[in-house]
Amino acid sequence: MGDPATYHFDLDLTLRPAHAPLEERWWPDIRDAALKASSARIYDAILGVRAVVIHATAGGSSAGAASVIFDRKASFHWLVPDEDEPQHGQFVWATCHEARAAWHVRNSCSHPAIWGGRGRINHWSLGIEVVNRQVRTDDFSDWQIEATAQIVRYAWAKYPNLRHVVSHAMLDPARRSDPGSPFPWAQFREEVLDARGDVVPELVAEAAELEAVMPSVPCCMTV
Ligand SMILES: [Zn+2]
Repeated sequence: MGDPATYHFDLDLTLRPAHAPLEERWWPDIRDAALKASSARIYDAILGVRAVVIHATAGGSSAGAASVIFDRKASFHWLVPDEDEPQHGQFVWATCHEARAAWHVRNSCSHPAIWGGRGRINHWSLGIEVVNRQVRTDDFSDWQIEATAQIVRYAWAKYPNLRHVVSHAMLDPARRSDPGSPFPWAQFREEVLDARGDVVPELVAEAAELEAVMPSVPCCMTV
């Protein structure tokens, strides 16, 4: 069991994936609500993203977690379903526009190891919530760890200045302990660094094969 207040690692820019696909679906009807429960980023929406913050919900359902966005109390970019939910093993939920600063870390929080101790972390980060009750009897599933790692890989491929992966607990140790000591941080880090999640979907692979045997002449020129 680790100490969640120490959970962090930095991404090596030389290992950045060229492409890391993500199976995600928007939570039903959340897009408008997410716009009202988030802020315009004060940094560039692509170049300004420096960190991914890992949270756990302390509740047992995705719906409970999503409700805080509808209630405009807080927000986060992705939600990783729990074992007893039908989406588990299938896809993660998108719950806020990546271009927006979601409300998942208090503005006063900072840590010297994370972008030199800069505050207003929501403006330069992405937030992931993993559904977990935060009690000893509720383990994180292997899929939840893989799916969370794949979100980080997806973001790593997309955001050129993304460097820090950090727990909420490290950023706000007085108030928060998520994702909690049962979260297997070392395993998670290994999976973030493992490219096996970047499998090319079958259809894309077939299209690439087809392209290889077809002459690549623009259609307007084939009279
Ligand atoms: Zn949190």
